[in-house]
Amino acid sequence: MSTPLDRSTLWPYDEWGELGEFYYQRDGSPTVAAAEQEIGELDGGTALLFPSGSGATTALALAQLAPGDTIALAEGCYFGTGRTFAALARWGLRVIEFDQTGPPPEEVQLVWLEAPSNPFLTMPDLETAVAHPAPVVVDSTVATPIHLRPLEHGVDFVLHSATKYLAGHDDALLGAVVCRDPHLAEALRTFRTYTGIVAAPDPAWLLLRGLKTLELRVRRQTEAAASIAERLRSHPAVKTVRYPGLGGLLSFDLADAEAAQKVETSLCVIVNATSLGGVTTLLENRRRWEGDRVPPGLLRLSVGLEDPEVLWADLEQALAG
Ligand code: PLP
Repeated sequence: MSTPLDRSTLWPYDEWGELGEFYYQRDGSPTVAAAEQEIGELDGGTALLFPSGSGATTALALAQLAPGDTIALAEGCYFGTGRTFAALARWGLRVIEFDQTGPPPEEVQLVWLEAPSNPFLTMPDLETAVAHPAPVVVDSTVATPIHLRPLEHGVDFVLHSATKYLAGHDDALLGAVVCRDPHLAEALRTFRTYTGIVAAPDPAWLLLRGLKTLELRVRRQTEAAASIAERLRSHPAVKTVRYPGLGGLLSFDLADAEAAQKVETSLCVIVNATSLGGVTTLLENRRRWEGDRVPPGLLRLSVGLEDPEVLWADLEQALAG
C-alpha cells in the first residue's frame, strides 16, 4: 500500500555480473522511479524528477538548447524562471518575452508557457503555441494535471515545481518534466545522469504520499479560491482580482505597497510567507521579490485547506486594517 523508501545509493549487479534495473542512485532509484511512474500517468507522458522546479528548468533548457538559441518566454510567468535563464545567458542562451495569450515570436528554438502564469494568472493559448515549429514547454505547476493535461494539446514538455501542489505539504523540494516523446525523455534522462541533477528518494517518497490526495486537495482549493476571488471582487479596498477560474492561486491589488503591508502584517490564520500549493494558506506582496515587475499593492494568495469561511474572515479583518 505504501511504496518503500529505499535510500540506497547502489544495488549489486546480478549473478552474471550484469546491471539490474537499479545499480547507482544517480542513474535511477526505486522510490524516485515509482513517483515518476505516477506523475507520468497523471500527465500522460514519460516523467523525470529533478531536485527542484528550477533544477528541472535548468536541465530541460540545457538539454534542449545550444549556445545562441533563443527561448520565447511567457511575459509575467514565475520570475525565477527568467532569473534561471538569465543565469545561463553567459553560455549564450537568449530570451525574448511575449504575451502568451497570442502567438510566440518566430525564429526561436523553444517556447516556454505557464498555465496559469504566477502571479498574473494569464492562461496560454496552447493551440496557437503548438502551431509554432519550435518545441513547446508548459509550466503547469499551478494548473496541475487535475485541471490541465498540456500533452493532450500537442505540447512537447510539461514542467512542474512538484514542491507545490503535487507534493502539497510544504516539506519536499522537487521538480518534474513530463515528455510526450519517449526518445526525448531518454535523452533528458541521460543528460540528468551525466550532470547529476537528480531527485533524492526522501522527497520522492513524500511526493508519492502527497499524490494520494492531489485531486481532493486541488478540487477543494479551487472551490475555496473561486469563492474568495468572488468576494474580493466586491470588496471596496480591492482594485483588481486575477483568478482564471481554476486552481488555488489568485492575486489581487490594493491601492499601494503600504496597504499591502498592512494586510500582510494583520493576518491571524493565513501565513505571510512565500511559496504556494500547500495545505496552509499563504499570502505575500510579490513586490519584495519581483520589484517593479508587479504593481506595488499586489498580493498573491495561495489557498490551502482551512475552512474557507475562516480564511475570508481573516482576509476581511486584515483588509479592514
Ligand atoms: N514554476 C513555478 C510556476 C513556480 O511557482 C516555481 C516556484 O515558485 C517554480 C517553477 C520553481 O520551483 P522550485 O521552487 O521547486 O525550484
